[in-house]
Amino acid sequence: MRLALSDILAARQTLRSTADATPLVPSPFMAAQTGQDFLLKLENMQPIGAFKLRGAMNAVMSLPEGTAGVTCCSTGNHGRGVAFAAARRGIRAVICMSELVPQAKVDGIKALGAEVRICGTSQDEALAESLRLVEQDGLVEISPFDDPLVIAGQGTIGLELLEARPDLDTLLVPLSGGGLAAGVALAAKAINPDIRVIGITMEHGAAMKASIEAGHPVEVEEVPSLADSLGGGIGMQNRLSFPLCRDLLDVILLVSEEEIYHAMQVLFYEDRIVAEGACVVGLAACLSGKITLTGPTATIITGRNLDMQMFHRIMAGEDIQLGDTIVKGKPYGA
Ligand SMILES: *Cc1c(COP(=O)(O)O)cnc(C)c1O
Repeated sequence: MRLALSDILAARQTLRSTADATPLVPSPFMAAQTGQDFLLKLENMQPIGAFKLRGAMNAVMSLPEGTAGVTCCSTGNHGRGVAFAAARRGIRAVICMSELVPQAKVDGIKALGAEVRICGTSQDEALAESLRLVEQDGLVEISPFDDPLVIAGQGTIGLELLEARPDLDTLLVPLSGGGLAAGVALAAKAINPDIRVIGITMEHGAAMKASIEAGHPVEVEEVPSLADSLGGGIGMQNRLSFPLCRDLLDVILLVSEEEIYHAMQVLFYEDRIVAEGACVVGLAACLSGKITLTGPTATIITGRNLDMQMFHRIMAGEDIQLGDTIVKGKPYGA
């Protein structure tokens, strides 16, 4: 299956006035730190609080008339997007998630009228339940990242970025299953083949990086992270997001939990933005000196659906317990 710029242009038509045109704002602090124009694409301003509405909406709106309903596995935000889109179409949605998904995300999905199933402690277990529902109830499964319509929907962010700023030199894209990075890189490189697209994820459980190094999809151990939306594997049967990320990403960088913690404080105290740990990996990579920027740069603030109690504790500089490990806290500026 091939995916092209034309698919992303078609997705843009489908998404018009429901999940498009988020603000692109400058970060003066990050510009001062890096010596380059630094822009934030505010996908946290989407109606469901995350960019995943784009892919989910594109996929659900493209389903044939008479579809019984939809199902998916999700780390939270894709489920929220699918639930929102299914409600718009008036069809059933069953969202399967692991126990690692924060309660705030589970509640958000239920509030949209979807059914929620909590199954096991990994994305793989959630996916197995979702596939069972396809067999049993005739629902259509919508992959969070390995679906051409989902990737095309996420790719519309790349179109908007390059239309607003044709001079962009580097895009910093949070990376998990790779639907976002694949779509954005496809759009951006179709418009400007010289643009640099960097995928960034957390140190532990970097499934796409491990898979690209191995030459095929591999499983990695899933551990709790401040960037919970970046958890999960890429699927052993991955058809699309794996080859696209392998071919289109210039490099994949990893950041630690401490670096994510600090970058969340930076985004809040300097730019006054409340966002998930997953959003700040691009900032974290710059602040820790893992990237040298060579021109105007944009990163995607992918979502805001975080546990506010956890957020308050990070902003106060408290230690955070993540499973068996503790992320050492520090008050901002101390
Ligand atoms: C899903 C998600 C990502 C990663 O997107 P992929 O397409 O899985 O790589 C990043 N940030 C947030 C907030 C997400 O929900």
